[in-house]
Amino acid sequence: MIRVAILGSTGSIGVSALDVVSAHPGRLAVVGLAAGGNVALMQQQVERLRPAVVAMATGPALAQVRDGLSAAATAQIRESAPGREGLVLVATQPDVDVVLCACSGTEALEAVLAAIAAGKRIALANKEVLVMAGSLVMRAAAARGVDVLPVDSEHNAIHQCLAGHPPAHVRRLVLTASGGPFRKTPAAALAEVTAADALSHPTWKMGRKISIDSATMMNKGLEVIEARWLFDLPPDRIDVVIHPQSVVHSMVEFVDGSLLAQLGVTDMKLPIQYAFTYPDRWDSPVPRLDWQDGLDLRFEPPERSRFPCLTLAYAALRAGGAAPVVLNAANEVAVASFLEGRLGFTGIAAVVSEVLSTAVGRALDTSSVAAIREVDAWARRAAGVRVGTVESAGRGTIA
Ligand code: MG
Repeated sequence: MIRVAILGSTGSIGVSALDVVSAHPGRLAVVGLAAGGNVALMQQQVERLRPAVVAMATGPALAQVRDGLSAAATAQIRESAPGREGLVLVATQPDVDVVLCACSGTEALEAVLAAIAAGKRIALANKEVLVMAGSLVMRAAAARGVDVLPVDSEHNAIHQCLAGHPPAHVRRLVLTASGGPFRKTPAAALAEVTAADALSHPTWKMGRKISIDSATMMNKGLEVIEARWLFDLPPDRIDVVIHPQSVVHSMVEFVDGSLLAQLGVTDMKLPIQYAFTYPDRWDSPVPRLDWQDGLDLRFEPPERSRFPCLTLAYAALRAGGAAPVVLNAANEVAVASFLEGRLGFTGIAAVVSEVLSTAVGRALDTSSVAAIREVDAWARRAAGVRVGTVESAGRGTIA
Protein backbone atom coordinates (compact mmCIF):
# COMPACT_ATOMS: atom_id res chain seq x y z
CA MET A 1 0.00 0.00 0.00
CA ILE A 2 1.33 3.43 -0.98
CA ARG A 3 -0.05 6.17 1.30
CA VAL A 4 -0.21 9.67 -0.14
CA ALA A 5 -0.70 13.22 1.05
CA ILE A 6 -1.97 15.74 -1.48
CA LEU A 7 -1.20 19.44 -1.17
CA GLY A 8 -3.65 21.23 -3.47
CA SER A 9 -6.30 18.50 -3.68
CA THR A 10 -9.06 20.69 -5.18
CA GLY A 11 -6.95 22.00 -8.08
CA SER A 12 -6.80 20.34 -11.48
CA ILE A 13 -3.76 18.15 -10.61
CA GLY A 14 -5.20 17.31 -7.18
CA VAL A 15 -8.49 16.14 -8.69
CA SER A 16 -6.61 13.97 -11.21
CA ALA A 17 -4.49 12.54 -8.39
CA LEU A 18 -7.61 11.50 -6.48
CA ASP A 19 -8.88 9.78 -9.66
CA VAL A 20 -5.60 7.83 -9.73
CA VAL A 21 -6.05 6.88 -6.06
CA SER A 22 -9.66 5.78 -6.68
CA ALA A 23 -8.54 3.63 -9.63
CA HIS A 24 -6.32 1.57 -7.32
CA PRO A 25 -8.27 0.65 -4.20
CA GLY A 26 -6.16 -1.35 -1.79
CA ARG A 27 -2.91 -0.21 -3.44
CA LEU A 28 -3.13 3.59 -3.00
CA ALA A 29 -4.65 5.39 -0.02
CA VAL A 30 -5.03 9.04 0.96
CA VAL A 31 -3.78 10.03 4.42
CA GLY A 32 -3.98 13.80 4.12
CA LEU A 33 -5.59 16.48 1.96
CA ALA A 34 -4.79 20.18 1.86
CA ALA A 35 -6.59 22.80 -0.23
CA GLY A 36 -6.99 26.55 -0.53
CA GLY A 37 -10.53 27.90 -0.30
CA ASN A 38 -12.77 25.46 -2.21
CA VAL A 39 -14.86 24.34 0.76
CA ALA A 40 -17.56 22.47 -1.18
CA LEU A 41 -15.14 20.32 -3.18
CA MET A 42 -12.98 19.61 -0.13
CA GLN A 43 -16.05 18.37 1.75
CA GLN A 44 -16.88 16.00 -1.12
CA GLN A 45 -13.28 14.74 -1.19
CA VAL A 46 -13.21 14.17 2.57
CA GLU A 47 -16.52 12.29 2.45
CA ARG A 48 -15.27 10.11 -0.42
CA LEU A 49 -11.68 9.42 0.70
CA ARG A 50 -11.90 9.77 4.47
CA PRO A 51 -8.44 11.29 5.07
CA ALA A 52 -6.98 11.37 8.59
CA VAL A 53 -5.56 14.89 8.21
CA VAL A 54 -7.13 17.94 6.57
CA ALA A 55 -5.87 21.47 5.94
CA MET A 56 -7.31 24.59 4.32
CA ALA A 57 -5.67 27.95 3.56
CA THR A 58 -7.52 29.79 6.33
CA GLY A 59 -9.10 29.05 9.70
CA PRO A 60 -12.61 30.05 8.58
CA ALA A 61 -12.39 27.83 5.47
CA LEU A 62 -11.23 24.89 7.60
CA ALA A 63 -14.07 25.46 10.09
CA GLN A 64 -16.58 25.55 7.20
CA VAL A 65 -15.25 22.26 5.85
CA ARG A 66 -15.43 20.58 9.25
CA ASP A 67 -18.91 21.96 10.00
CA GLY A 68 -20.39 20.43 6.87
CA LEU A 69 -19.02 16.89 7.28
CA SER A 70 -20.92 13.76 8.23
CA ALA A 71 -20.26 12.25 11.66
CA ALA A 72 -18.49 9.31 10.01
CA ALA A 73 -16.07 11.51 8.04
CA THR A 74 -15.45 13.69 11.10
CA ALA A 75 -14.62 10.63 13.19
CA GLN A 76 -11.86 9.70 10.70
CA ILE A 77 -10.07 13.07 11.09
CA ARG A 78 -7.31 12.89 13.69
CA GLU A 79 -5.80 16.34 13.01
CA SER A 80 -6.47 19.51 11.03
CA ALA A 81 -4.87 22.95 10.77
CA PRO A 82 -5.06 26.05 8.56
CA GLY A 83 -2.45 27.88 6.50
CA ARG A 84 1.20 26.94 6.00
CA GLU A 85 1.12 25.09 9.32
CA GLY A 86 -1.65 22.90 7.90
CA LEU A 87 0.38 22.15 4.76
CA VAL A 88 3.34 21.08 6.92
CA LEU A 89 1.04 18.94 9.09
CA VAL A 90 -0.38 17.11 6.06
CA ALA A 91 3.07 16.69 4.46
CA THR A 92 4.84 15.23 7.49
CA GLN A 93 2.40 12.60 8.83
CA PRO A 94 4.34 9.50 9.94
CA ASP A 95 2.18 7.16 7.84
CA VAL A 96 2.63 9.13 4.58
CA ASP A 97 4.95 7.66 1.90
CA VAL A 98 4.55 10.20 -0.92
CA VAL A 99 3.69 13.90 -0.79
CA LEU A 100 2.18 15.26 -3.99
CA CYS A 101 2.81 18.99 -4.10
CA ALA A 102 0.17 20.38 -6.44
CA CYS A 103 -0.51 23.78 -4.85
CA SER A 104 0.02 26.71 -7.13
CA GLY A 105 2.44 29.42 -6.05
CA THR A 106 4.91 29.26 -3.22
CA GLU A 107 2.71 28.50 -0.20
CA ALA A 108 3.99 24.92 0.01
CA LEU A 109 7.73 25.70 0.08
CA GLU A 110 8.11 25.07 3.84
CA ALA A 111 5.90 21.99 3.63
CA VAL A 112 8.02 20.47 0.85
CA LEU A 113 11.21 21.07 2.83
CA ALA A 114 9.58 19.63 5.97
CA ALA A 115 8.43 16.55 4.01
CA ILE A 116 11.97 16.04 2.68
CA ALA A 117 13.37 16.34 6.22
CA ALA A 118 10.82 13.71 7.28
CA GLY A 119 12.10 11.39 4.52
CA LYS A 120 9.01 11.50 2.28
CA ARG A 121 9.16 11.01 -1.46
CA ILE A 122 8.14 14.23 -3.20
CA ALA A 123 5.93 14.08 -6.28
CA LEU A 124 6.33 17.62 -7.54
CA ALA A 125 3.67 19.19 -9.75
CA ASN A 126 4.47 22.72 -8.68
CA LYS A 127 7.08 24.70 -10.63
CA GLU A 128 7.49 27.61 -8.23
CA VAL A 129 9.08 25.45 -5.53
CA LEU A 130 12.08 24.71 -7.78
CA VAL A 131 12.11 28.04 -9.60
CA MET A 132 12.36 29.87 -6.27
CA ALA A 133 14.32 27.45 -4.15
CA GLY A 134 15.73 24.79 -6.50
CA SER A 135 19.15 24.84 -4.89
CA LEU A 136 17.79 24.54 -1.32
CA VAL A 137 15.26 21.84 -2.18
CA MET A 138 17.54 19.62 -4.26
CA ARG A 139 20.40 19.90 -1.75
CA ALA A 140 18.04 18.94 1.09
CA ALA A 141 16.67 16.00 -0.91
CA ALA A 142 20.17 14.73 -1.78
CA ALA A 143 21.31 15.05 1.83
CA ARG A 144 18.27 13.11 3.10
CA GLY A 145 18.36 10.57 0.21
CA VAL A 146 14.81 11.50 -0.84
CA ASP A 147 13.52 11.25 -4.44
CA VAL A 148 11.99 14.34 -6.02
CA LEU A 149 9.89 12.92 -8.84
CA PRO A 150 8.57 15.37 -11.41
CA VAL A 151 4.85 15.34 -12.22
CA ASP A 152 5.13 18.17 -14.75
CA SER A 153 4.57 16.15 -17.94
CA GLU A 154 7.79 17.29 -19.67
CA HIS A 155 10.06 16.57 -16.73
CA ASN A 156 8.26 13.33 -16.05
CA ALA A 157 8.98 12.33 -19.66
CA ILE A 158 12.65 13.23 -19.23
CA HIS A 159 12.80 11.26 -15.98
CA GLN A 160 11.45 8.25 -17.86
CA CYS A 161 13.91 8.69 -20.76
CA LEU A 162 16.89 9.10 -18.42
CA ALA A 163 16.19 5.89 -16.50
CA GLY A 164 19.41 3.97 -16.07
CA HIS A 165 21.57 6.36 -18.12
CA PRO A 166 24.50 8.06 -16.37
CA PRO A 167 24.72 11.90 -16.66
CA ALA A 168 27.91 11.61 -18.75
CA HIS A 169 25.86 10.00 -21.55
CA VAL A 170 23.44 12.94 -21.82
CA ARG A 171 24.08 15.72 -24.33
CA ARG A 172 20.91 17.76 -23.82
CA LEU A 173 17.31 17.72 -22.69
CA VAL A 174 14.64 18.76 -25.18
CA LEU A 175 11.43 20.11 -23.63
CA THR A 176 8.44 20.05 -25.96
CA ALA A 177 5.97 22.94 -25.96
CA SER A 178 2.57 23.08 -27.64
CA GLY A 179 3.17 26.72 -28.56
CA GLY A 180 -0.13 27.64 -26.89
CA PRO A 181 -3.11 29.35 -28.54
CA PHE A 182 -0.99 32.10 -30.18
CA ARG A 183 1.55 29.97 -32.02
CA LYS A 184 0.32 31.37 -35.34
CA THR A 185 -0.95 34.76 -34.20
CA PRO A 186 1.00 37.56 -35.94
CA ALA A 187 3.33 39.23 -33.41
CA ALA A 188 1.68 42.60 -34.13
CA ALA A 189 -1.74 41.25 -33.10
CA LEU A 190 -0.57 39.92 -29.72
CA ALA A 191 -1.04 43.26 -27.94
CA GLU A 192 -4.80 43.02 -28.55
CA VAL A 193 -5.49 39.42 -27.47
CA THR A 194 -7.82 38.99 -24.49
CA ALA A 195 -7.74 36.76 -21.41
CA ALA A 196 -10.51 34.62 -22.97
CA ASP A 197 -8.36 34.06 -26.11
CA ALA A 198 -5.38 33.16 -23.94
CA LEU A 199 -7.37 30.75 -21.77
CA SER A 200 -8.36 28.48 -24.67
CA HIS A 201 -5.40 26.11 -24.77
CA PRO A 202 -5.38 23.78 -27.79
CA THR A 203 -4.24 20.51 -26.17
CA TRP A 204 -4.14 20.65 -22.35
CA LYS A 205 -6.91 21.55 -19.88
CA MET A 206 -5.23 23.56 -17.12
CA GLY A 207 -5.75 26.23 -14.47
CA ARG A 208 -5.99 29.92 -15.43
CA LYS A 209 -2.51 31.02 -14.40
CA ILE A 210 -0.71 28.19 -16.16
CA SER A 211 -2.87 28.68 -19.27
CA ILE A 212 -1.67 32.27 -19.56
CA ASP A 213 1.92 31.14 -18.89
CA SER A 214 1.47 28.64 -21.69
CA ALA A 215 0.25 31.37 -24.05
CA THR A 216 3.30 33.57 -23.29
CA MET A 217 5.60 30.50 -23.11
CA MET A 218 6.70 31.68 -19.67
CA ASN A 219 5.50 28.25 -18.61
CA LYS A 220 8.19 26.68 -20.78
CA GLY A 221 10.73 29.16 -19.42
CA LEU A 222 9.87 28.17 -15.85
CA GLU A 223 10.15 24.53 -16.96
CA VAL A 224 13.68 25.15 -18.27
CA ILE A 225 14.58 26.45 -14.79
CA GLU A 226 12.80 23.49 -13.20
CA ALA A 227 14.77 21.08 -15.45
CA ARG A 228 18.04 22.72 -14.48
CA TRP A 229 17.42 21.78 -10.83
CA LEU A 230 15.79 18.40 -11.32
CA PHE A 231 18.45 17.08 -13.69
CA ASP A 232 21.45 19.24 -12.75
CA LEU A 233 22.27 20.44 -16.27
CA PRO A 234 23.27 24.00 -17.35
CA PRO A 235 20.84 26.11 -19.44
CA ASP A 236 22.81 25.65 -22.68
CA ARG A 237 22.03 21.92 -22.46
CA ILE A 238 18.28 22.41 -22.08
CA ASP A 239 16.41 23.12 -25.33
CA VAL A 240 12.81 23.87 -26.22
CA VAL A 241 11.01 22.71 -29.35
CA ILE A 242 7.45 23.52 -30.42
CA HIS A 243 5.40 20.36 -30.91
CA PRO A 244 1.75 21.37 -31.39
CA GLN A 245 0.26 17.88 -30.96
CA SER A 246 1.62 17.43 -27.38
CA VAL A 247 2.07 13.70 -27.98
CA VAL A 248 5.84 13.64 -27.41
CA HIS A 249 6.07 14.93 -23.86
CA SER A 250 9.82 15.59 -24.03
CA MET A 251 13.08 14.03 -25.15
CA VAL A 252 16.66 13.33 -24.11
CA GLU A 253 19.50 13.52 -26.62
CA PHE A 254 22.50 11.35 -25.75
CA VAL A 255 26.13 12.05 -26.66
CA ASP A 256 26.02 9.60 -29.57
CA GLY A 257 23.16 11.56 -31.19
CA SER A 258 20.44 9.10 -30.23
CA LEU A 259 17.19 10.67 -28.96
CA LEU A 260 14.77 8.99 -26.58
CA ALA A 261 11.24 10.38 -26.34
CA GLN A 262 8.26 9.58 -24.14
CA LEU A 263 4.87 9.61 -25.88
CA GLY A 264 1.35 9.40 -24.51
CA VAL A 265 -2.06 11.01 -24.36
CA THR A 266 -2.32 14.43 -22.72
CA ASP A 267 -3.58 13.27 -19.35
CA MET A 268 -1.87 14.26 -16.10
CA LYS A 269 -3.02 11.04 -14.43
CA LEU A 270 -0.14 9.31 -16.21
CA PRO A 271 2.75 11.32 -14.69
CA ILE A 272 0.96 11.46 -11.33
CA GLN A 273 0.66 7.69 -11.16
CA TYR A 274 4.28 7.25 -12.34
CA ALA A 275 5.47 9.46 -9.48
CA PHE A 276 3.39 7.47 -6.98
CA THR A 277 4.50 4.01 -8.14
CA TYR A 278 8.07 4.57 -9.41
CA PRO A 279 10.10 2.44 -10.07
CA ASP A 280 7.11 0.13 -10.46
CA ARG A 281 4.56 0.55 -13.26
CA TRP A 282 0.89 -0.28 -12.90
CA ASP A 283 -2.07 -0.47 -15.24
CA SER A 284 -3.68 2.97 -15.42
CA PRO A 285 -7.07 4.60 -16.01
CA VAL A 286 -5.54 6.69 -18.84
CA PRO A 287 -6.72 6.31 -22.47
CA ARG A 288 -4.16 4.86 -24.87
CA LEU A 289 -2.51 6.64 -27.79
CA ASP A 290 -4.41 5.68 -30.93
CA TRP A 291 -2.99 6.00 -34.45
CA GLN A 292 -5.78 4.16 -36.28
CA ASP A 293 -6.67 7.40 -38.06
CA GLY A 294 -3.04 8.43 -38.51
CA LEU A 295 -0.91 10.51 -36.21
CA ASP A 296 1.18 13.44 -37.41
CA LEU A 297 3.97 14.71 -35.20
CA ARG A 298 5.39 18.12 -36.05
CA PHE A 299 8.37 19.90 -34.52
CA GLU A 300 9.61 23.45 -35.10
CA PRO A 301 11.87 25.90 -33.25
CA PRO A 302 10.10 28.57 -31.14
CA GLU A 303 10.05 32.06 -32.65
CA ARG A 304 11.84 34.05 -29.98
CA SER A 305 10.42 37.41 -31.11
CA ARG A 306 6.89 36.10 -30.53
CA PHE A 307 7.73 34.65 -27.11
CA PRO A 308 9.99 37.12 -25.22
CA CYS A 309 9.10 35.45 -21.90
CA LEU A 310 11.08 32.38 -22.93
CA THR A 311 14.16 34.51 -23.56
CA LEU A 312 13.65 36.28 -20.20
CA ALA A 313 13.52 32.95 -18.36
CA TYR A 314 16.78 31.76 -19.93
CA ALA A 315 18.37 35.10 -19.02
CA ALA A 316 17.18 34.78 -15.41
CA LEU A 317 18.52 31.23 -15.18
CA ARG A 318 21.92 32.30 -16.57
CA ALA A 319 22.04 35.27 -14.18
CA GLY A 320 21.28 32.88 -11.31
CA GLY A 321 20.94 33.94 -7.68
CA ALA A 322 17.71 35.84 -7.08
CA ALA A 323 16.87 36.39 -10.77
CA PRO A 324 14.57 33.33 -11.17
CA VAL A 325 12.71 34.34 -7.98
CA VAL A 326 12.25 37.85 -9.36
CA LEU A 327 11.17 36.49 -12.76
CA ASN A 328 8.54 34.25 -11.18
CA ALA A 329 7.15 36.88 -8.79
CA ALA A 330 6.94 39.61 -11.43
CA ASN A 331 5.27 37.18 -13.82
CA GLU A 332 2.63 36.19 -11.26
CA VAL A 333 1.70 39.83 -10.68
CA ALA A 334 1.67 40.57 -14.42
CA VAL A 335 -0.47 37.51 -15.24
CA ALA A 336 -2.96 38.35 -12.47
CA SER A 337 -3.17 41.91 -13.84
CA PHE A 338 -3.74 40.56 -17.36
CA LEU A 339 -6.51 38.24 -16.13
CA GLU A 340 -8.14 41.24 -14.40
CA GLY A 341 -7.99 43.20 -17.65
CA ARG A 342 -5.54 45.74 -16.21
CA LEU A 343 -2.60 44.83 -18.46
CA GLY A 344 -2.31 43.93 -22.13
CA PHE A 345 -0.92 40.54 -23.16
CA THR A 346 2.43 41.88 -24.34
CA GLY A 347 2.61 43.93 -21.15
CA ILE A 348 3.33 40.70 -19.24
CA ALA A 349 6.81 40.36 -20.76
CA ALA A 350 7.36 44.12 -20.46
CA VAL A 351 6.68 44.06 -16.73
CA VAL A 352 8.85 41.01 -16.11
CA SER A 353 11.70 42.47 -18.15
CA GLU A 354 11.63 45.80 -16.30
CA VAL A 355 11.51 44.23 -12.84
CA LEU A 356 14.35 41.87 -13.77
CA SER A 357 16.54 44.76 -14.90
CA THR A 358 15.72 46.68 -11.69
CA ALA A 359 16.95 43.66 -9.72
CA VAL A 360 20.34 43.56 -11.46
CA GLY A 361 23.07 44.84 -9.17
CA ARG A 362 20.95 44.61 -6.01
CA ALA A 363 22.29 42.35 -3.28
CA LEU A 364 19.30 39.99 -3.04
CA ASP A 365 19.86 37.10 -0.63
CA THR A 366 18.37 33.67 -1.47
CA SER A 367 20.19 31.52 1.08
CA SER A 368 17.08 30.70 3.16
CA VAL A 369 13.33 30.37 2.67
CA ALA A 370 12.80 33.61 4.63
CA ALA A 371 15.29 35.48 2.41
CA ILE A 372 13.68 34.06 -0.73
CA ARG A 373 10.26 35.21 0.47
CA GLU A 374 11.66 38.73 0.97
CA VAL A 375 13.01 38.82 -2.58
CA ASP A 376 9.66 37.51 -3.80
CA ALA A 377 7.79 40.25 -1.92
CA TRP A 378 10.14 42.95 -3.24
CA ALA A 379 9.67 41.75 -6.83
CA ARG A 380 5.87 41.67 -6.41
CA ARG A 381 5.88 45.26 -5.18
CA ALA A 382 8.14 46.33 -8.05
CA ALA A 383 5.88 44.56 -10.56
CA GLY A 384 2.79 46.16 -9.01
CA VAL A 385 4.34 49.61 -9.45
CA ARG A 386 5.28 48.77 -13.02
CA VAL A 387 1.76 47.49 -13.84
CA GLY A 388 0.47 50.83 -12.57
CA THR A 389 2.86 52.61 -14.94
CA VAL A 390 1.93 50.42 -17.87
CA GLU A 391 -1.75 50.95 -17.08
CA SER A 392 -1.47 54.72 -17.02
CA ALA A 393 0.29 54.56 -20.39
CA GLY A 394 -2.63 52.60 -21.87
CA ARG A 395 -2.41 48.92 -22.69
CA GLY A 396 1.09 47.57 -22.23
CA THR A 397 3.47 46.98 -25.08
CA ILE A 398 7.05 45.87 -25.05
CA ALA A 399 9.31 48.88 -24.97
MG1 MG B 1 4.51 21.12 -18.28
